[in-house]
Amino acid sequence: MKRDLSFEDISDGNRYKAGDFAPTGTNGCKGCAECCRVTEDTIFLDPFDIYNLEKATGRTFEEMLETIITLRVSEGLIVPVLMKRAEGPCVFLNAEGRCGIHDHRPGFCRMFPLGRIWNEDGTFDYFLQIHECPHLGGEKILISDWLGIDQIDSYEGFIKAWKEVSESIKLSSGSSDKALKSANMRLLNEYFIKPYDTKKDFYSQFYSRGI
Ligand code: SF4
Ligand code: SF4
Repeated sequence: MKRDLSFEDISDGNRYKAGDFAPTGTNGCKGCAECCRVTEDTIFLDPFDIYNLEKATGRTFEEMLETIITLRVSEGLIVPVLMKRAEGPCVFLNAEGRCGIHDHRPGFCRMFPLGRIWNEDGTFDYFLQIHECPHLGGEKILISDWLGIDQIDSYEGFIKAWKEVSESIKLSSGSSDKALKSANMRLLNEYFIKPYDTKKDFYSQFYSRGI
């Protein structure tokens, strides 16, 4: 019998902030690369991820399309996702079983095995996905260190702002498919296709854009 899984079923029951310690340690992963082998187009990318991919590869969004990135529709939004190879692994998993763009990896990869859970007031918490990683059970680590992102406050502010932008697309389109498609194209063009200057700060570029 199928049932909806609750927060308690998939997590350790705790909600964490970036300044909290959480038991995310994976004991060095012990040669495992499972989460990079079975991505199944689930690594959704936001503008900060695209900025980082442009920095890592020296390619624009359009140059990465259909080799590194592909597009999916999720809840009415067109969303870029990281591609996997035909045989399964992420395109960036190298022969040594390591991430070829570790310093520039997407936010989803940085969080794993943490996830993000949104609150009604527009803020979010992190939670530990207890069934997704076979080597979970190591030491407690400061979440901001686990994410490994500079300017964590700016990053989290961007995550909230990006959710607002994404939600506004759906709301402004009402029930019209044509309006939704057109809004999606504006979103893609403004925040993804238009190249970022990877020598400059990301956040000022993000906030200077708008649709
Ligand atoms: S599944 Fe867990 S142990 Fe395996 S590579 Fe991913 S984080 Fe490391
Ligand atoms: S980008 Fe790196 S960390 Fe993320 S799934 Fe691919 S290989 Fe793994």
